[in-house]
Amino acid sequence: MVAAALKISALLERLESFYGPQTAGFPTDPYQFLIWWSCGYPQSDRACGRGWDSLRRSVSVEPDGILAAPVSELARALAPGGMVPEKRAQRLQEIAGRVRDECGGDLRERLSGSMAEARKILKKFPSIADPGADRILLFAGISPIAAVPSNCPYVLVRIQRGRERENYGVTYREAQKLIENGIAPSFDARRRAYLLLKRHGQELCRSSKPRCGECPVKRDCAFAAGNSRGRSAGVRG
Ligand code: SF4
Repeated sequence: MVAAALKISALLERLESFYGPQTAGFPTDPYQFLIWWSCGYPQSDRACGRGWDSLRRSVSVEPDGILAAPVSELARALAPGGMVPEKRAQRLQEIAGRVRDECGGDLRERLSGSMAEARKILKKFPSIADPGADRILLFAGISPIAAVPSNCPYVLVRIQRGRERENYGVTYREAQKLIENGIAPSFDARRRAYLLLKRHGQELCRSSKPRCGECPVKRDCAFAAGNSRGRSAGVRG
């Protein structure tokens, strides 16, 4: 039985003791992040990292280099990142073109106005919705926003509330609220929370079949407590 929800600060301490301190495995500059994010598909740190390394070696990650290269050459460079390299090559040219033509070549500078404006600019780029915009703003040092890892927003919600919510958007906002209320609005604190929750969602608290038996927070997790109550009551499924 879970007596009371574990404080998020205590939860992060425990995750950090288990996984160790985490560092961002992706570029934190806004323009570079957008390019990196299109370097792999399906998107993951590993796939995007493979495509990014190959692109950097064989073409360039800078706007001029990307715009000067034929799509077929970009697609070849992106192939180690996974599926649909031609489509991703076209995306790279769209991103590079927009940054050059609409942002005067300096996306970071264009994001320095109001947060509403910065978010609007970011969401015009391919594959960027609210979670991607939050991540860019936090890691670029533009706003210490409560960003939540887009592939596992359910982690905090499971631990504190027991079940993820009815859809992705509601779960994301719930996780964001938990971070806003539980973590100081500093860049370091919120980046640390983001990276530890991301690691936990990748390693143990997976979307399907979480490995609760090995989890360092299982004693305080409402989701695990609910499952064990269901088992003792003979609930199936
Ligand atoms: S006990 Fe299970 S559901 Fe809870 S945080 Fe750990 S892995 Fe996730």
